[in-house]
Amino acid sequence: MENQAKTYDVVIIGGGAAGLSAAQALGRARRSVLVVDAGEPRNAPADAMHNYLSRDGMNPLELLAAGRAELAKYGVDIVADRATDSFRTETGFTVSLARNPQVSARRIILAGGLKDLLPEIDGLAEHWGNDVLHCPYCHGWEVKDQHIGIVDSAFSVHQALMFTQWSKNITLFRAPDRELGSEDLEQLEARGVGIIEADIAAVRGSAGSIQGVELSDGTVYPLDALVIMPGVEVDLSGVASLGLTASEHPMGVGQFVEADAMGQSGVPGVWVAGSLADPKQQVIMAAASGLGVGAAVNADLTREETERDVAELRLQRAAL
Ligand SMILES: Cc1cc2nc3c(=O)[nH]c(=O)nc-3n(C[C@H](O)[C@H](O)[C@H](O)COP(=O)(O)OP(=O)(O)OC[C@H]3O[C@@H](n4cnc5c(N)ncnc54)[C@H](O)[C@@H]3O)c2cc1C
Repeated sequence: MENQAKTYDVVIIGGGAAGLSAAQALGRARRSVLVVDAGEPRNAPADAMHNYLSRDGMNPLELLAAGRAELAKYGVDIVADRATDSFRTETGFTVSLARNPQVSARRIILAGGLKDLLPEIDGLAEHWGNDVLHCPYCHGWEVKDQHIGIVDSAFSVHQALMFTQWSKNITLFRAPDRELGSEDLEQLEARGVGIIEADIAAVRGSAGSIQGVELSDGTVYPLDALVIMPGVEVDLSGVASLGLTASEHPMGVGQFVEADAMGQSGVPGVWVAGSLADPKQQVIMAAASGLGVGAAVNADLTREETERDVAELRLQRAAL
């Protein structure tokens, strides 16, 4: 990597839709920017991305490659690496990288996304993102009218009811140790959702398509797609020494990082953008979040520079 000793206005940790959009806003604002990206966006397991107007069906990695190419003309530096820690200095921060020399920055934008915690079901991970799904807006159209199974979780009744908009052939696999309330049962019956009381032991299928699930008694139940609710966690190792912490999301979906409406976290100078600040975000929302945070960080830097210049002006006037 070039620019070993360079101090950037902003180091962005994470080059997904959020990080690259923040970089675009800042690059176009003539800020010096480094994007550090470990190259594992949350939706990488999916072959296609949906609900991004004008890019429907595009491979998620292609979108990011196009974004990186656009940033070149604004002088944004991008390095394929992982931020391993960050430290406060008198003028900002240093950021340590796994394979490259540390860099300095006046501000940090953390846009590292989320890690999905999949249920421990044999064979499930191989199908994650294509025919093992969680989000009807991402993949519902692709499995419309198919036989869809729902894995039991705190969200499974909600998911089952939602997916009835896409298919009338829905089966909820209820774990034997979990009771459903009478209202849930009535709603599921009214919407035609079948219920099977069984634990799922394995997902059966070959590359690219599931054939069904194997229940704990060995029965194989044919399905076209399976819906799960992954937990999510954030990885804050890139800023570990700065004291930023993750919170439990009020909706019970897992972790997120709290920030104000502009994206400023509780650690001065560290801003957050994208899905790690709001796990509900889809790609276009993460991109919008990155744009907003990039603009807010530029405004914050301009404020700081204006204060510096005003102080200098006053000194000059006082010396006259
Ligand atoms: C299976 C699946 C399918 C999905 N399909 C869709 C869809 O069709 N349409 C849609 O709109 N949304 C979809 N989503 C949601 C989508 O993945 C997120 O909205 C989007 O990825 C959020 O973007 P982001 O920039 O916040 O984070 P990410 O895209 O996750 O990018 C974060 C980047 O930061 C990097 N990073 C993390 N830590 C570090 C570090 N310490 N140092 C350097 N780099 C780091 C990661 O490697 C990654 O490259 C899907 C999600 C899943 C799980």
